[in-house]
Amino acid sequence: MTTTFTDEALEQLALTAGRELEDATAEEILGWASATFGTRWAVTSSMEDAVVAHLASRVQPGIDVIFLDTGYHFVETIGTRDAVAAVYPVNVITLTPRQTVAEQDAEYGPKLHDRDPDLCCALRKVAPLQTSLDGYDAWATGLRRDDSPERADTPVVGWDAKKRRVKISPIARWDQDQVDAYILEHGVLTNPLLMDGYASIGCEPCTRRVAPGEDARAGRWAGRAKTECGIH
Ligand code: SF4
Repeated sequence: MTTTFTDEALEQLALTAGRELEDATAEEILGWASATFGTRWAVTSSMEDAVVAHLASRVQPGIDVIFLDTGYHFVETIGTRDAVAAVYPVNVITLTPRQTVAEQDAEYGPKLHDRDPDLCCALRKVAPLQTSLDGYDAWATGLRRDDSPERADTPVVGWDAKKRRVKISPIARWDQDQVDAYILEHGVLTNPLLMDGYASIGCEPCTRRVAPGEDARAGRWAGRAKTECGIH
């Protein structure tokens, strides 16, 4: 596939759309993505829930939904991915890192996630996604402004200068009540771990349950300064 936009045109498109769609609904934002990019956009999902995949599938049936299988996921997360692939009109694409966990252990030593989580995330998440995004102009995420202080300024459409791609966050303005209401209204698939004390779900070695009142993302890389995997 070849892109139909230059990087400069994509950046301008993103900045303009970010301003114009700030008050738009999630469906309207994804409708803009569909009209603008055709098949050259995708959704990425951690399979914490399928809200954005569900929204996108209503706007553009057959949309690619990218899942990064790090080799460290909870079995419940893999099950959620399989359910999404089976139930929704989406094309789930599972990306895997260059190395298996065993191969990574052999080269870098075991439990790299405990010793250098930034490198582990770079190898197992960032690199595979970067390669995959070569085939797209834009990608949609489930980022929300209330996830964390670092995400408070998330635009609904923005320019990811590192990836040279348009980043769409259709539920950036939503809060947890809106997410819960959407899940309830549409019977959206969710990761069973959300009912088991987990509020934000990543790789098993780097995710713990949260206590009542704790931030949703407090259970990610707990005890470390790290708050993001490097994808965002
Ligand atoms: S979240 Fe943890 S296990 Fe997963 S890729 Fe990052 S450091 Fe590795």
